[in-house]
Amino acid sequence: MGPTGSARILQIHPTRQCNLSCLHCYSSSSPRAHGALALDLLCEAISDAADEGFNFVSLSGGEPLLYKPLAQLLQHAHTCGMRTSVTSNGMLLTAPNIELLYGNVDVLAISIDGIPESHNRIRGSQLAFDTMKARLPLLRAANLNFGFIFTLTQYNLNELDWVRDFAISEGAKLLQIHPLEEVGNAATMLQGSAPDATESAYAWLLAQQSNNSALRVQIDLAFSETVKQHPELVFASAASELKIKRFGDLVSPIVIEADATVSPIQYGFARDFAIGNLTQAPLRTLLKDWQVQRLPAFYALCRDVYDEIACAPKPYFFDWNNLIGKRAEETNHPSPMKKSGQSNVVHAHSDI
Ligand code: SF4
Repeated sequence: MGPTGSARILQIHPTRQCNLSCLHCYSSSSPRAHGALALDLLCEAISDAADEGFNFVSLSGGEPLLYKPLAQLLQHAHTCGMRTSVTSNGMLLTAPNIELLYGNVDVLAISIDGIPESHNRIRGSQLAFDTMKARLPLLRAANLNFGFIFTLTQYNLNELDWVRDFAISEGAKLLQIHPLEEVGNAATMLQGSAPDATESAYAWLLAQQSNNSALRVQIDLAFSETVKQHPELVFASAASELKIKRFGDLVSPIVIEADATVSPIQYGFARDFAIGNLTQAPLRTLLKDWQVQRLPAFYALCRDVYDEIACAPKPYFFDWNNLIGKRAEETNHPSPMKKSGQSNVVHAHSDI
């Protein structure tokens, strides 16, 4: 088991083309980005992933609704027995696009960044919030289940209550809280805006309090004490996993980026750990080779990060994907501190 629980996730970014150019976009998508991955390339990868035990295809962007063969891609995932999700900024959820999604998507996630003013500022469009909101009655009329994804920053925790009430009033079934990652556009446009340990701890508590029968609230944060007791959650248990044959049980998520690079864990993960590129070999071959050549190094990295968490002086909440992504980058480019033999200890600021 890993951070994604029983879900074995194949995340796909078929294109970086988007109708928006958001300040926090980790894939640096925009209307200026062109090109898209071929449908047959992605369908073959989905088939291979299903054979390797992956059971969930998550489509993200760019804006997936701009990917012309989206319906065929989702249908192929269903044919392979996988569940599907699509993450959208919501502005293009027109009646024809909703019809395209109907029956093909199991989870539709719509991005939201706070109150309308905050949402529009981060999205770089004065029309972003109102246009998205105007699409929601169409979703309800079509009886299409949807949820929201809220990007938590250091500065918008006070808007979380508003977002929760908005989600309930609009009939959303899920609110997912995702901490900002300072990569892609956010590395320059929102530098220093990722939530710290204190902000994360409060967000965690608010998320627990907000859970109710009308709305399920999830937060993409881990608690250090839970991880300490369950190293398998961060792929840091004994190497017994290596005996398991299917790749989906070894690492999840894996990510197909818009240039066909396959990465473990998250978009843009340090290239030293890249699984390969689909233009060079099919996914089944890439996974097999990586399992032999790089999986031991990846697990060693996971154990280093686990030790770092276990040594922290106080319990704390943290974004494991973000943390391991940073440590993987440092493995590529060791910092002067690392070179001098000192460890990277995460300092907990919370008393929780
Ligand atoms: S965050 Fe989403 S909506 Fe914004 S530019 Fe990136 S892909 Fe497009």
